[in-house]
Amino acid sequence: MFHVAESPELSTGWDLHCHTVYSDGTCTPAQMVTLAKNSGLAGVAITDHDTTAGWADAAEAAHRNNFPVLRGTEITADDSNVSVHMLAYQYDPADSNIVALFERTRQARLKRAKVMVAAIAQDYPITWDDVMRQVKEGEKTTVGRPHIADALVAAGIYSNRSQAFAGLCSSRSPYYLPTPSPTTHEVVAAVRAAGGVSVIAHAGDKKRNRTLLSDRQIEMLIGEGLNGLEVWHRDNSEEQRERLLRIAQQHHLLVTGGSDWHGAGKPNKLGEHTTDQQTVDQILDMGAITLADGQQ
Ligand code: AMP
Ligand code: ZN
Ligand code: FE
Ligand code: FE
Repeated sequence: MFHVAESPELSTGWDLHCHTVYSDGTCTPAQMVTLAKNSGLAGVAITDHDTTAGWADAAEAAHRNNFPVLRGTEITADDSNVSVHMLAYQYDPADSNIVALFERTRQARLKRAKVMVAAIAQDYPITWDDVMRQVKEGEKTTVGRPHIADALVAAGIYSNRSQAFAGLCSSRSPYYLPTPSPTTHEVVAAVRAAGGVSVIAHAGDKKRNRTLLSDRQIEMLIGEGLNGLEVWHRDNSEEQRERLLRIAQQHHLLVTGGSDWHGAGKPNKLGEHTTDQQTVDQILDMGAITLADGQQ
């Protein structure tokens, strides 16, 4: 029987999955760094959806607070109609291929959100402008369902974002549309070419998809250069954590953990799952850019 190890101790760990106002989180990168430092974490990663727009603020806060920050992104992808999130760390943000890939996804997200809102607006009192008012950093922010959810809350239709996700914003809602996305294979190749480290986020989350990625699908990506699996995440069941750990052990992959913190947008607590220092050191060895900390 495979034994499931505990998530590393909070005080020694890094939270490698955090969202800010540059996507659908509610705090700035500077607030994220201050909170991470005050909560006793060893370090934190910024991983907004499909963008590096928050990296400069996060690096500046790392420097000012003398607190280490990994720079990353949660990339939207598709694998034979399974919606997949891939975490990418420490890659070259100027890589033209990855810049173009994000540009395509961000445009697709905007278009998809507008179509969803137009359909919802037939039946509920919200407009596109109401959604735009929830977007904190203008064009720099990656727009998603959470901004639609926040507009529905502002209109008094729900009392918080999570309620909106249980209703009109759910992936089972009649208004739901998927975001046209690059394939997981394209993402693994793009992150690798940009000198980064790729990790599949919450691969055992049964709420996201009717079917999960199979062992076979994950192994295909490992063959293409996938570096790790996010095992420690609240939406991976115990059984799924065991499966993912077994795959990671077999293929010598990195095992990571993170909270998927969204500030006030989600109940997830900063630092509720973490990654150990040794794994972070491996990410730093592999990555194309230096650690953002007190020095830089
Ligand atoms: P989208 O990427 O536009 O399909 O929106 C899905 C995203 O909403 C996921 O990344 C979730 O993490 C995020 N999200 C933010 N707040 C919530 C919430 N309260 N409930 C569910 N999902 C949320
Ligand atoms: Zn999110
Ligand atoms: Fe995700
Ligand atoms: Fe996330």
